[in-house]
Amino acid sequence: MSLYIHTVEAFEDNYIWVLVNESNNQAIVVDPGQADPVAEFLAQKDLELTAIWVTHKHHDHTDGVDALRELFPMTHVVAHTGHDVSPDQTVSEGSTVSAWGYSAQVWDVAGHTENHIAYLLDRDGTKHVFCGDTLFSGGCGRVFSGTIESLFDSLTKFTTLPDDTLFYPAHEYTVHNLKFGLSIVPNDSAMQTALHNAEARRQLNKPTLPVTLAHEKSINVFLRTKDPAVIEGVKAKANLPDTKPLSVFTALRRLKDSF
Ligand SMILES: [Zn+2]
Repeated sequence: MSLYIHTVEAFEDNYIWVLVNESNNQAIVVDPGQADPVAEFLAQKDLELTAIWVTHKHHDHTDGVDALRELFPMTHVVAHTGHDVSPDQTVSEGSTVSAWGYSAQVWDVAGHTENHIAYLLDRDGTKHVFCGDTLFSGGCGRVFSGTIESLFDSLTKFTTLPDDTLFYPAHEYTVHNLKFGLSIVPNDSAMQTALHNAEARRQLNKPTLPVTLAHEKSINVFLRTKDPAVIEGVKAKANLPDTKPLSVFTALRRLKDSF
């Protein structure tokens, strides 16, 4: 079976990830905030939509669900009860979702919102993580209705995955995030290279995603809260009560909110 993962662009900078099974022309979409671009993509490729996976309740991730359900009545909607989408399958931490022959594990990754979940698809030994607005390349989600502690725990949980794990965030924020990272550690060569590469890809209108965990560990300040250079950079801009990772993380998130 050949499984491909595509991006469909929505709104200004959202990505709706589409899993395509080329053996049977079926597709699964993650977080369809808009129905039209998804319907167009599916029609172009002559695909049938069999499932929708939702990561959290925000409208730019769920507003296309009802219209896609109408277009494809057999579509199976997978979501948490707190996502306001009337799921056919209710999931939470520890649930398993099947995708043809593969399975995806559901993790609770709250913080951006309460009940934010991620889908970890295991494909021939490599994990593909649909992480919504929890992790972005070079950054992380803002805390809306979740808590900073749970966001920190969720990102820490992601770092326990194998280094070759691929992350599929729902927004193209990479360039701005790296500029923020470089405002904290201006001479960081890994971030400078990542910014250069991300800008080059954006100029060609190509996504900077997915990204590996190994890459994020080297260029994402929010995953480097124990790094002395990051701690020094934060200290120069904010009052740190102590240098515990959660304190550094909290200060970083606050600085980023007004960057
Ligand atoms: Zn969101």
